[in-house]
Amino acid sequence: MNFDFSEQERSFLREVDAFIEANRSPEVMDLSRENMAQISDTPERRAFMRKLAQRGWLGLTWPEEYGGSNSSGVYEYLLNEKLSTVGAPQIGKGVGIIGKTLIRHGSEKLKREFLPQILNAEIEFAVGYSEPNAGSDAAAMRLKAERDGDYWRLNGQKVFTTSAHFAEWYWVGARTDPNAPKHYGITLFLVPLNHPGLTIHPMPTMGGERTNMVFFDDVRVHDDYRVGELNKGFQYISEALDLERFTLFTFAPIRARTQLLCDYVKTAQRDGEPLRNDPLVRQRVARLATECEVARLLGLSFVAAAIADGKPPTNEASAYKLYATELSQRVANASMDIVGPGAQLSKGTEDAPLCGRIENTYTYTVIDTVGGGASEIQKNIIAKRKLGLPKNF
Ligand SMILES: Cc1cc2nc3c(=O)[nH]c(=O)nc-3n(C[C@H](O)[C@H](O)[C@H](O)COP(=O)(O)OP(=O)(O)OC[C@H]3O[C@@H](n4cnc5c(N)ncnc54)[C@H](O)[C@@H]3O)c2cc1C
Repeated sequence: MNFDFSEQERSFLREVDAFIEANRSPEVMDLSRENMAQISDTPERRAFMRKLAQRGWLGLTWPEEYGGSNSSGVYEYLLNEKLSTVGAPQIGKGVGIIGKTLIRHGSEKLKREFLPQILNAEIEFAVGYSEPNAGSDAAAMRLKAERDGDYWRLNGQKVFTTSAHFAEWYWVGARTDPNAPKHYGITLFLVPLNHPGLTIHPMPTMGGERTNMVFFDDVRVHDDYRVGELNKGFQYISEALDLERFTLFTFAPIRARTQLLCDYVKTAQRDGEPLRNDPLVRQRVARLATECEVARLLGLSFVAAAIADGKPPTNEASAYKLYATELSQRVANASMDIVGPGAQLSKGTEDAPLCGRIENTYTYTVIDTVGGGASEIQKNIIAKRKLGLPKNF
């Protein structure tokens, strides 16, 4: 089996390298932040996204009729991996989740209004599925949407809406039929985040980043801003989650942190002895390096299946997300153990080993095993859909 990239793909990688070199800036490229795709917003970051847009790299996989270049998904994968290698913002939710879902299911009006703005990096989105009693079981969402002439009135609450404090648009699921079985009574809407009926409260996370609670008080939304068919929202959300599980969890930072740990082991001493001579330490980093290769291949298997299927493959998305995010935690845990108490010093502390990166990733990597669907949920999906085991709840 040949896992090499083609000459054309390697030439694209060189182009991306040159772009990164030409736009290198500490304000947009920060290796010590774990996920630049969605959690921060600055004028410099938006300017960087516009440059990516000008290169035509935001719509790589989109059809030409919607302004994309109809390229294979491998280019989008290569771009995102390269960008995350240097801690730069990646294509994120607009292109990877909302845009792709609109192309498949949105009305002509929504496509005309949103797709060009996404491609030109003019708007950011927040995604609202989770609620206080609907996290893993997102289909239990209760945010109420009631018909009011040509409009809908939305009332209720969301939790964990990342980016709501800076994004322009809210991609939000609401219950439009309370009497239907829970998966068949949900509809997706697009709501402007500056709507006066929305109140946004910060939720600080243990990883040091902000997510939000959002309260809806009679938020009127025109029916034109309903996405796809009435009560089919959960089907669209499931597809969008498959995209999210792959698009938002890049592999390159995990490999980089594993390499950083290996470099540390090569040079550091403990009790006057070189760490590299400790057999347990050697075995642990060797194991992590091997697991990195597994994560890389699971990522490629998602890309290959998506190209073959033409739609996001559920099993591969769950397998990659489960393995990669748990590996990321194992790398962080091993770094804490091997580097020792100094690893608890945070970024900016004088003499913090590896510039304080370990403390930051130790807390942040927990989040990745929860957001986008917790590890247990990925295992349930694999058990049911890939292995054909009965539903467990
Ligand atoms: C930092 C962060 C950012 C987020 N951003 C967003 C966002 O932008 N938009 C959004 O909509 N959501 C977002 N989420 C929410 C995320 O999707 C949910 O936290 C996640 O789905 C888990 O839901 P929960 O927190 O309610 O936990 P629960 O669903 O209450 O789960 C608690 C525990 O029980 C386990 N569990 C639950 N059900 C089962 C089951 N059937 N079988 C086995 N184990 C089970 C879970 O794995 C978990 O360990 C974010 C979360 C975090 C932490």
